[in-house]
Amino acid sequence: MAKDAPGKDPHDEGLKVGDRKKYAAGLPAVVKSLQLSNDQMGARRTVLTLARVNQKEGFDCPGCAWPDPHERGRFEFCENGAKAVAEEATLRRVGREFFAEHSLADLEDKTNYWLGQQGRLAEPMFKAKGATHYQPIEWDAAFDLIADRLNALPSPDAAAFYTSGRTSNEAAFLYQLMVRRFGTNNLPDCSNMCHESSGAALSHTIGIGKGTVTLDDIYAADLILVVGQNPGTNHPRMLTALEKAKKNGAQIISVNPLDEAGLRNFHNPQTPLGLTKGTDLADDFLQIRLSGDQALFLALAKLTVEAGAVDEEFIKQHTSEYEEYVAHLDAVDWDTVVEATGLRMEEIRKLAKRYCAADRVIVCWAMGLTQHKGAVPTIQEIVNLLLLRGNIGKTGAGPCPVRGHSNVQGDRTMGIWERMPAAFLDNLDEEFGFEAPRTHGLDAVDTIRAMRDGKVSAFFAMGGNFVSATPDSNVTEAAMRGLGLGVHVSTKLNRSHVVSGDEALILPCLGRTERDDQASGEQRVTVEDSMGMVHLSHGRLAPGSEQLLSEVAIISRLAEALFGTDDAIDWAGLRGDYDVIRDHISRVVPGCDDYNAKVHAPGGFALPNGPRDSRTFDTATGKARFTVNDLETLELPPGHLILQTIRSHDQFNTTIYGLDDRYRGIKHGRRVVFVNAEDLTHLGFVDGETVDLVSVWKGEERRAESFRIVSYATARGCAAAYFPETNVLVPLDSVARISNTPASKSVVIRLEHRAG
Ligand code: SF4
Repeated sequence: MAKDAPGKDPHDEGLKVGDRKKYAAGLPAVVKSLQLSNDQMGARRTVLTLARVNQKEGFDCPGCAWPDPHERGRFEFCENGAKAVAEEATLRRVGREFFAEHSLADLEDKTNYWLGQQGRLAEPMFKAKGATHYQPIEWDAAFDLIADRLNALPSPDAAAFYTSGRTSNEAAFLYQLMVRRFGTNNLPDCSNMCHESSGAALSHTIGIGKGTVTLDDIYAADLILVVGQNPGTNHPRMLTALEKAKKNGAQIISVNPLDEAGLRNFHNPQTPLGLTKGTDLADDFLQIRLSGDQALFLALAKLTVEAGAVDEEFIKQHTSEYEEYVAHLDAVDWDTVVEATGLRMEEIRKLAKRYCAADRVIVCWAMGLTQHKGAVPTIQEIVNLLLLRGNIGKTGAGPCPVRGHSNVQGDRTMGIWERMPAAFLDNLDEEFGFEAPRTHGLDAVDTIRAMRDGKVSAFFAMGGNFVSATPDSNVTEAAMRGLGLGVHVSTKLNRSHVVSGDEALILPCLGRTERDDQASGEQRVTVEDSMGMVHLSHGRLAPGSEQLLSEVAIISRLAEALFGTDDAIDWAGLRGDYDVIRDHISRVVPGCDDYNAKVHAPGGFALPNGPRDSRTFDTATGKARFTVNDLETLELPPGHLILQTIRSHDQFNTTIYGLDDRYRGIKHGRRVVFVNAEDLTHLGFVDGETVDLVSVWKGEERRAESFRIVSYATARGCAAAYFPETNVLVPLDSVARISNTPASKSVVIRLEHRAG
């Protein structure tokens, strides 16, 4: 029986800390999936909905972007996929009665968990200037109001249009078209905060901002390095792929400051073995120091060259700048490298041996690499290592950044980027007969700066929870409160709806699980997974309320209000039949020719990928580029720690499904900080003590109050705590060079005893 939304906001009452788990998934994952699904959807809807997720004729999981196998299993989802689906297909509703009962001041004190548990937004709501409550508003009135405010801006660049990775390809294409037709490239997106560093490094070195690996490559690899990634929580079906690779003889190495259960042992609940002893995954675990990865890959490359284990034929034929790189390796100082990694030299040598002995090597990574000041050079160092032995453009080998949000890669492919290449904009001009702006726009961090400085006064969000996903919470919240207009296209209530400027609107949209009927009939949308596979998604549940509109309908009706129904672009036609949008995509988006036919093929199609398909590298040299990267090391003042912000197991980005973090032994709470036992002794703190976390940046201090210390197996000098609670500690200007991604994995902090 579905449960009602929680009345009281639980916070951390009853916080319990127990033992860490030695394996991931298993029966507990099945029980948790069914329990949470039943709480939100009830039994019948649970069975109906979970049976369709990630199936060829079903809908795409709104969780992460892990690809689907060619042969779908009967149950093609993981525990966190079930949670994501249950939260979207919940029977709980948030309508005018809820907003009449709860003022903004009241909602201000609520956690993201409580807000999210209230249910699906059921109708459009408006907060007028000076108002204390949201009020219902008709759709047409909402679009007219937004259009009026946007058209009254001094410049289109005074507005920013954010995208979260749940937005479908059709909606993303239409959104960028509307925004560029409006006259700006201010298109920040969630990728700016996650894999922007990967895109920057890969585009420069191999000519494409994506990985080159497919699922079949994972199954065929000899050696898989999983670096700065916790797949057990953030990409759980990856464990199934790693289990298969393991069975095929692969070795798996985990490189992480935290010893995560998901890489120790996997109890695959869809196999008999999984219900008993499971499969050991990692053959070795290197407990690296935060921000020590660049040094590690530099060291592995030096040892590979010294061992004479390079693929000279590949280097000669397909790469450039090799000599400069080898000269740079000669200058590497081992003491600096070992200290930066926090590892022992023999651990590094052992891994180098494994690397040189393997023919087909894949390196997978996630935020643990991309959210550091030196993230881009670190990922370029990974490419250097892979190029040394020709581990790109062959079966079982290559770079594999694993995306966190279901369609974050698709959105970028469709044009959601503040700095799209001229070729794309030229195609857009030709296709739609207007001149798209050429001046690069604002990414997420620059948007916050512009809002803070009063240069951006209107903010439009296609999904997401911007205020909780971004760094420097006090600065970001103040910037959002200074807005003239804030608009959020959302499925669920979150803090970004509460932290508002003068005027705010909430526009509730359909979810992936729901049926989308337009003039030409039922519509399907498309998404792109982390490995460049594009496929259809088809929701069948009746919409959660009659007042919901699809993302495409919202954008096209707003465009009609903005530009007039007689605009040269037939917005109504685009809304009426998504095949029309896809025909435009096929003529504007590189690699998407004949898009409609290809996506309607069973399982969809793979986007072209030069390095993978033919070892062609669209770089400045026309080759795969070795790069010389100065080694960045993070100096820690005495008495300080390096903090990384992380997710719990009951969390997806800023969506909090529950207050447990089962694998790490945490129950009923989130304000915890994981610290190494020796560091606690050295710094004079004890396990279980409640402290404040204080970050220090250029003489400024930022404070996060009241965290319970949990003595934990982290690397020496490294701590971890959940976001968004600790985003307040991440300075806005502490970003990765080149990609401008917040450095949320290397925040210099100190612990402070609390009085009493
Ligand atoms: S692995 Fe990712 S995409 Fe797959 S079911 Fe789980 S959350 Fe969804």
